[in-house]
Amino acid sequence: MEGVDQLKADAEQYIPEGYDPQLYKIRHSAAHVMAQAVLERFPDAKPTIGPPIKDGFYYDFDMARAPNDEDIAWIEQRMKEIFKGRHPFRVREVSAEEAHDLFKDNPYKRELIDGLVQGGYDENGNPLPDDQQPKITVYQHDTFVDLCRGPHLPHTGYVKANGVKLMNVAGAYWRGDATKPQLTRIYGTAWRNKTQLTEHLERLELARERDHRKLGRELELFTFSKMVGPGLPLWLPKGAIMRQTLVDFLRQEQLDRGYQPVITPHIGRLELFKTSGHYPYYKDSQFPAMFEDEEQGEGYLLKPMNCPHHIQIYAYKQRSYRDLPVRLAEFGQVYRYEQSGELGGLTRVRGFTVDDAHIFCRPDQVKAEFKDAIDLALTVLGALSFHDYRVQISLRDPNNKEKYVGEDAQWEQAEQAIREAVAEMNLDAHEALGEAAFYGPKVDFIVTDALGREWQLGTVQLDYNLPERFDLTYVGSDDKRHRPVMIHRAPFGSLERFIGVLIEHCGGAFPAWLAPVQVRILPITDAHVDYARAVEAQLRKAGLRVEVDARNEKMGFKIREAQLQKIPYMLVIGNREMENDAVAVRLRTEEDLGAMPVAAFLEMAQTAIAEKRSL
Ligand SMILES: [Zn+2]
Ligand SMILES: [Zn+2]
Repeated sequence: MEGVDQLKADAEQYIPEGYDPQLYKIRHSAAHVMAQAVLERFPDAKPTIGPPIKDGFYYDFDMARAPNDEDIAWIEQRMKEIFKGRHPFRVREVSAEEAHDLFKDNPYKRELIDGLVQGGYDENGNPLPDDQQPKITVYQHDTFVDLCRGPHLPHTGYVKANGVKLMNVAGAYWRGDATKPQLTRIYGTAWRNKTQLTEHLERLELARERDHRKLGRELELFTFSKMVGPGLPLWLPKGAIMRQTLVDFLRQEQLDRGYQPVITPHIGRLELFKTSGHYPYYKDSQFPAMFEDEEQGEGYLLKPMNCPHHIQIYAYKQRSYRDLPVRLAEFGQVYRYEQSGELGGLTRVRGFTVDDAHIFCRPDQVKAEFKDAIDLALTVLGALSFHDYRVQISLRDPNNKEKYVGEDAQWEQAEQAIREAVAEMNLDAHEALGEAAFYGPKVDFIVTDALGREWQLGTVQLDYNLPERFDLTYVGSDDKRHRPVMIHRAPFGSLERFIGVLIEHCGGAFPAWLAPVQVRILPITDAHVDYARAVEAQLRKAGLRVEVDARNEKMGFKIREAQLQKIPYMLVIGNREMENDAVAVRLRTEEDLGAMPVAAFLEMAQTAIAEKRSL
């Protein structure tokens, strides 16, 4: 292979792993076509970069004004014509001079060209030999030429015009740097055909409807206050009861598995976090230290993690090999200083609760403990209907070892133990480099929610390093001191984030055991309120979360409201129910189960709750 064919073949390497190659080329080609149309509408605009992204593409332009709706409609229409024109994408290699000449009016492209040329020197500043020089390539279709490494489709007709849609216009900085010029970014989405595009747009609409920030407001689960501060969620009564139910569920599971609850404060001395390695390396993502005074050796940090505190609980007395494993669990509040631009709802916050536990064990116990922690995480995901997940073994980046603490031998030992545990559990796992914690490798659970999006929930981490840094020991059967191994694990991860994902996964229709209000009783008239109250008292005594809607409203209105609140069970009460000690049961799915004795309803609801079914 040579010449153009070789250039095209080389370009394939730029398709990211896991990205459908055809879709990648469709989106990349659509970005070029959009740039052509934009330049026809705005001849003075300067295109900068325009890559494919998840589900679509964008292109950034330096332009005098952002396109309005009319411009976007024009550009979209023009793109359709260019797609239908079946213009071939032609690639050729150019010299740096030719490239500079081609883009002489575009300082952004020239900066990119310089970057490519600078790549052509060795570390001593000497030019690389000719055959190692980075190639500068341009792709042309119709009238549009772009500095581009590819890959592209054979011609523009490979993009189906009705599979592409421009989505929105936003601001962006050149190279993402706020000190550099502000650009205009136009986003588009592109798919193989119209059906795929329609499905994507429907998923987006569903995601909007299920947005946990919107549902959190409508269902009165949580709120944020400017006075309190961004990223600091305030749990409203309904959200708090739901969250407490989740916590109780896990607490019981942990007690059954031999965990011991502990409680620790929200802050700790800087010294503690210097020893653990959290400080100063993670300074940028933490709230600044309090009362920091180098000379006095004073200073406190809001805790970014619970591990160092739990380590001190392990270390408060000498442990024997017979005491191990020690499993310390705490729903521990931690604080991270996320950039305000990143804050949105519950998925990224500055104060959150980790369902944390630290297992201190002997080396011969590592595998069994690690497996039990994985089993617990899978139990939790299953109880919440996250049945679609993949298991990721997160390893350190072998080219960036300075980002991690500890010796190579410890890392290899830990990685081996994890691989064995996962294999023995018959889990289908893949490995991801660079995703480890700073102290050790881990297993992460990547869950696909009902909308097809992936979330990392739950983690089990193996750590030979912190026991070393804190000089933890136990006395072995040989009467000598030995080093324990630590397992960090959190099946929910962050409770806040987990609940944010859960809200969107079930669209706010929590399974009955979690629903903040499980039953709403709807008396038809005032004459039925007393009986409704009596049923309410009976159900509450049996442990159900129940309320009465005694407002003087039409029944249709009351039912609709209860359905919007996603309340699992509605009990309608009129004369007939009153006379027969019964209730007429409706489900939030609009299913009408008709009248049944109160005792029969209670048994049905309690069974669904005990089995953690949806209804
Ligand atoms: Zn390109
Ligand atoms: Zn930890």
